[in-house]
Amino acid sequence: MFGFKKTSQNNSKTPAGKLAASLRDEQKRFEIIVNSIDDGVILIDNQQVIQLINPGAATLCGWPESEATGININNVMKMVDSKGQDLPETENPFGQIFEQDQPLHKDNAYLKSRSNKFLSIALSLSPLLDANKQVYGAVAVFRDVTKARAEEKQRADFISTASHEMRTPVAAIEGYLALALNDKVATIDNRARGFLEKAHASTQHLGKLFQDLLTSARAEDGRLTSHPAVIEMGGFLEQLTNDLRFSAEKKGLFMEFAIGSSDTINASAPKSGGERTIKPLYYVYADSDRLREVITNLFDNAVKYTEEGKVVVGLTGNDQVVQCYVKDTGTGIPNEDVPHLFQKFYRVDNSATRTVGGTGLGLFIARKIIELYNGRIWVESELGKGSTFYINLPRLSGEKALKLQAGSDQSAASKTINSGGAA
Ligand code: ADP
Repeated sequence: MFGFKKTSQNNSKTPAGKLAASLRDEQKRFEIIVNSIDDGVILIDNQQVIQLINPGAATLCGWPESEATGININNVMKMVDSKGQDLPETENPFGQIFEQDQPLHKDNAYLKSRSNKFLSIALSLSPLLDANKQVYGAVAVFRDVTKARAEEKQRADFISTASHEMRTPVAAIEGYLALALNDKVATIDNRARGFLEKAHASTQHLGKLFQDLLTSARAEDGRLTSHPAVIEMGGFLEQLTNDLRFSAEKKGLFMEFAIGSSDTINASAPKSGGERTIKPLYYVYADSDRLREVITNLFDNAVKYTEEGKVVVGLTGNDQVVQCYVKDTGTGIPNEDVPHLFQKFYRVDNSATRTVGGTGLGLFIARKIIELYNGRIWVESELGKGSTFYINLPRLSGEKALKLQAGSDQSAASKTINSGGAA
């Protein structure tokens, strides 16, 4: 209840008094709230017939409340795809909600109004459940996000064009600075060398920032290129770890590659008694360049934020999941920062990040790439002791991997997000 106190101000002649009086009536109270909500609110029964529609919904759909009530929601709220085509039956949220007892959220939904106006909407649908958990109706709450989406797209387009254009001159500056620093090509004194080394490092940072901006803008609007194929993660990670080893060892850190689970059996080493062991093969379906990008980023971070100890790249899994991890003995991450770490531009504010360069885009891009392959990325960390970044990817069975490798259903399973150039 609203808890209005009976004060002298609640006299029915004052505005506050009028409100308190009308709120005493249950029906009125309900109407006041629903009618004053700017978002669209529609209540449907189990036949998908509209029982209640508020003015917000009536305006968005272009139907007067009196006409829309009693009509099937699919006639009033026409859900379409991004190209304005009718949604197939299986993807219609008003059908889906009666097949599940969980709320449904669609942030990227589209609606065609009565006058054929195309709107981007954010839709939440909540099922109404009876005592037997049967859905007897649903409440739809939706909002017009057309303007916000258009602005988002404009921003992303601007960032990708600007960073693309700026990458070229920055690469040229970096190249010339590298030439100036090369003894075989140019002669400079030590003072000039010191200046140019600083300029070179900053240009490299700038180049990385543009590249990351471009990749993140593309990741956000779904234009990240991806050419997935079957990858055997054991071999892939071992090779990658060897390529990366140098940068850890250069900083005096130990580097380890750990593979396997308790059921690991190693084929290359026959055991006594003729027992043979087999290395498990962890297959996933992803773009190896993209995965390399992610693991390299986690590895570079591990090295950047670890002063002593070791970095372990590991692989394990079960029937369904392949799990890779990158573990370090570094600074660790404060608990309050962990939930924000995979957001754009997020950097922990401490002495380590202030002295170590970075863009705060690496983990955001990593999350976007891993989500592209229906995976999950997260971190577990203890301040002062170190962090472990985990990646879970769906595991392909050996049979399925062979089939895909043979190319039989390669094209069907291919998931190229767009045909744009590599981000
Ligand atoms: P950056 O370019 O700043 O490294 P990332 O997106 O890769 O950007 O990482 C975001 C932030 O997460 C970093 O600024 C750092 O504060 C924190 N972080 C990432 N990896 C580690 C790690 N292994 N140990 C400690 N902090 C880390």
